Amino acid sequence: MTVSASPPGSASPPASVAPVDVGRRPGAVPWVAMYHSVGDPWDDPYRITVTPERLDAQLGWLRRRGLRGVPVGELLAARARGGGGDLVGLTFDDGYADFVEHALPCLRRRGCGATLFVLPGRLGGDNAWDRLGPRRPLLTADGIRHAAAEGVEIGSHGLTHVDLTRADDAALRAETAESRARLSELTGAPVAGFCYPYGTVDARAADAVRAAGYTYACAIDPGPLTGPYALPRVHVGQHDTAVRMLLKTRLHRLRRRPARGV
Ligand SMILES: [Zn+2]
Repeated sequence: MTVSASPPGSASPPASVAPVDVGRRPGAVPWVAMYHSVGDPWDDPYRITVTPERLDAQLGWLRRRGLRGVPVGELLAARARGGGGDLVGLTFDDGYADFVEHALPCLRRRGCGATLFVLPGRLGGDNAWDRLGPRRPLLTADGIRHAAAEGVEIGSHGLTHVDLTRADDAALRAETAESRARLSELTGAPVAGFCYPYGTVDARAADAVRAAGYTYACAIDPGPLTGPYALPRVHVGQHDTAVRMLLKTRLHRLRRRPARGV
């Protein structure tokens, strides 16, 4: 199956711009870091939490190397203009309430921006999808608007944190199109970015995301898929000190683009 540039018979996606060109040179994969919660990493079976101090040190490390963390939309726009060599995308998944309390001050102090991927179907709820817990509160609508007002790019993580590769057609549509509509209404702005829950993506899910009007989507390791709807990301955790950060930037540079664009 070929993944089309736009869904057959559909009008232009609502309130969005054309998908970005993320570069076609071998190895020219945008460097996008993946964070989740910022707080106390104790009792964290999924290892998705960094302390505010560790986040601050990691952002400082980037700055000392002449790099700056920015929202993914800003990174991709800069690359489409032929620049962006000094930019790293920063993403925070799930929309935890601790983003406003702990991540925002760090980002501000380090002169960085970020993309926050939230779940408009779980506003003010918690991470009920994580079986092992612990439960962490998610941002309310006001919290998301506060982050947006601080310059954070708000992207969609779906509606309720569903694996899109296992969703039926109705759920797939709701998790992509309805999520985007609700978020656009919440923030008063078009929503460009999507992030696949669990990082799982296939061509059908990427098609649905494109059809919903998003201009890019983040995965984790998208396998054979490439292009603006299958952006790989690098997990950055509590144990990533300077040496490991350096190793991860080097390993990322070794990524090559295989054949399958979406
Ligand atoms: Zn998630």
